[in-house]
Amino acid sequence: MAQKKFIGIDVGGTNIKAALVKNGKILAHLRTPTHAAGGFKSSFDQIRAAVTAYIDQAAGIGIGIAGLIDSRTGVVRYSPNLPGWNNIQLASMLRNEFLKPVKILNDVNAFCLGEWQYGAGKGYNNVFLLTLGTGVGGAAVVEGVPLFGANGFAGELGHSVIHENGPKCPCGNRGCLERYVGARHLVALAQKKMKGTRSSLRKHQELSPRLIAQEAKKGDKTAVAVFEEIGYYVGVGISNIIVLFDPDVIIVSGGVAKAGKVLTDAIKKTVAQRVMGAEFRKFKIIPPRLGDDAGVLGAVYHASK
Ligand SMILES: [Zn+2]
Repeated sequence: MAQKKFIGIDVGGTNIKAALVKNGKILAHLRTPTHAAGGFKSSFDQIRAAVTAYIDQAAGIGIGIAGLIDSRTGVVRYSPNLPGWNNIQLASMLRNEFLKPVKILNDVNAFCLGEWQYGAGKGYNNVFLLTLGTGVGGAAVVEGVPLFGANGFAGELGHSVIHENGPKCPCGNRGCLERYVGARHLVALAQKKMKGTRSSLRKHQELSPRLIAQEAKKGDKTAVAVFEEIGYYVGVGISNIIVLFDPDVIIVSGGVAKAGKVLTDAIKKTVAQRVMGAEFRKFKIIPPRLGDDAGVLGAVYHASK
């Protein structure tokens, strides 16, 4: 199996990435902005076009896609960034059209498998990967086996609760981790904290996690305080993961994680204070290694199994 070529596709709300992959190596790839606003047909046609580009050379297709994905039946239940994708039988639709095996999985599960096989998690049997961006995602490999759960929905760290009476989350729950550390909430926190200060954040018309991280790196106290607070909450979330799964490594990925040390120092401090038996545990909190390629590589790994 390992010697065959597969198509890997990573469908996000912003971009669709596709690659032809052999043995963990990307032979060719393409990237196109997702036409999410055009509804299901529009983004589905983009996926078909990506498959068409490489199908003649491929033994099968693996697709990572954001949302609640039933990886066993190949059904996209719901995708928050792709309007119109509700109960879509994606795997069988593509299988019927292209007559090759198709497997789909949640995009964060694909990132996790990619990093586990070829990146920062290589060589470890117990891996948890979280993504910090607009949303907060998670996925796990437990005892050397990817964890999907009974419905394919395992690992949704962003919707684990850190304050039982906290603010409402679009998922229907209250006080979810994502509600505190998602990119939008990070920016809102910065806006709140900079009021009445001389923070350099106030020079900017519009704030983004990247800008706030830049100012934090330059030493702006308010920007540093924002990432300390975000890191505290992420640390609480990771502490829960550690007591539940006892992982070898926790890979902290995603756009917000690019803030680097200011964030990871706060995460590590919180984890050290909170995790039961921290002094007896060996675990590492580390950055990812594959960047953008993790999703397509993980999707192909899944398809090739
Ligand atoms: Zn939630």
